[in-house]
Amino acid sequence: MEKAEEKHCVFCNKTDNEVPLVQLSYSKGIYWICPQHIPILIHEPQKLQGLLPGADNMQAG
Ligand SMILES: [Zn+2]
Repeated sequence: MEKAEEKHCVFCNKTDNEVPLVQLSYSKGIYWICPQHIPILIHEPQKLQGLLPGADNMQAG
């Protein structure tokens, strides 16, 4: 088992054992984010720079 393959929030790294996670399909990959950090994805995607590949090119909603 590869630990990096575990579902965890891209922002806070909490796993689905701790919080519900929402699946993101993005840039040919699958990522997970917890409800607490969905607003960051929507409003401040720049904060995901370095966490999600290409997040620095994402537009805030
Ligand atoms: Zn999170």
